[in-house]
Amino acid sequence: MIFFGVNVYKVDRVNIKSSKLNRSWMTKPQKLLKEGNMTEKKATHIYWHNGVITRNERERLKGHRGFTIWFTGLSASGKSTLAVATEVALHERGIHTYILDGDNIRHGLNNNLGFSPEDRTENIRRISEVAKLFTDCGIVNLTAFISPYINDRLFARRISGDDSFIEVFVDCALEVCEKRDPKGSYKKAREGIIKEFTGINAPYENPVNPEIHLRTDQLSVQESVQSIISYLGQHNYI
Ligand code: ADP
Repeated sequence: MIFFGVNVYKVDRVNIKSSKLNRSWMTKPQKLLKEGNMTEKKATHIYWHNGVITRNERERLKGHRGFTIWFTGLSASGKSTLAVATEVALHERGIHTYILDGDNIRHGLNNNLGFSPEDRTENIRRISEVAKLFTDCGIVNLTAFISPYINDRLFARRISGDDSFIEVFVDCALEVCEKRDPKGSYKKAREGIIKEFTGINAPYENPVNPEIHLRTDQLSVQESVQSIISYLGQHNYI
């Protein structure tokens, strides 16, 4: 059922949960990572140290839940624009927020990663872990990453927890994105200056069943934000 552009079906996540022990859902880059080509788990003899204050207690202190709003879509589809506008709307409601933005994160934490399939997967793996930490802090975190691979987004969902992860498909026709081109990236990709650019010479896998599906080539920014806020209210996130 589509309600104001919002897909209100909850997805059957059985495959995702059972994928914990089954690596068949992983992309090749994810398998490479698991097999140790990039982020080989080097630390041994390490143990989880439990704190005293729990996520529930942090959330109670803040008066709202922590969760991830994961924006995915082509470059220039409007992920950053919607993350910023949604953050303002949430902040005005007294909700603690933080944006993890693709380009910003690549300036720091992920500045050693490029745009090969392996690096894109590692980019999302790190962000997934950071998003999970923010959720554990009781903060609403909004991530704006192309995140082109379904399996990388499934990984993010799996580690955050299905009840704390809202995938927002920022859906905009490639021609419209290319026309917007706020950073001139499509032009450079067409000229061959930027290699492996999503939508031009690198793939984007559409979300299969996102919680929210926004056609940003048809909706205004405010209409999209309203859809997100309505979804959060209807599903008791806020
Ligand atoms: P992304 O983060 O997906 O790369 P940006 O948010 O950086 O995209 O850029 C999207 C551009 O499109 C911005 O310049 C924004 O102002 C513009 N835009 C025009 N119409 C819309 C809309 N309806 N929703 C979102 N962005 C829009």
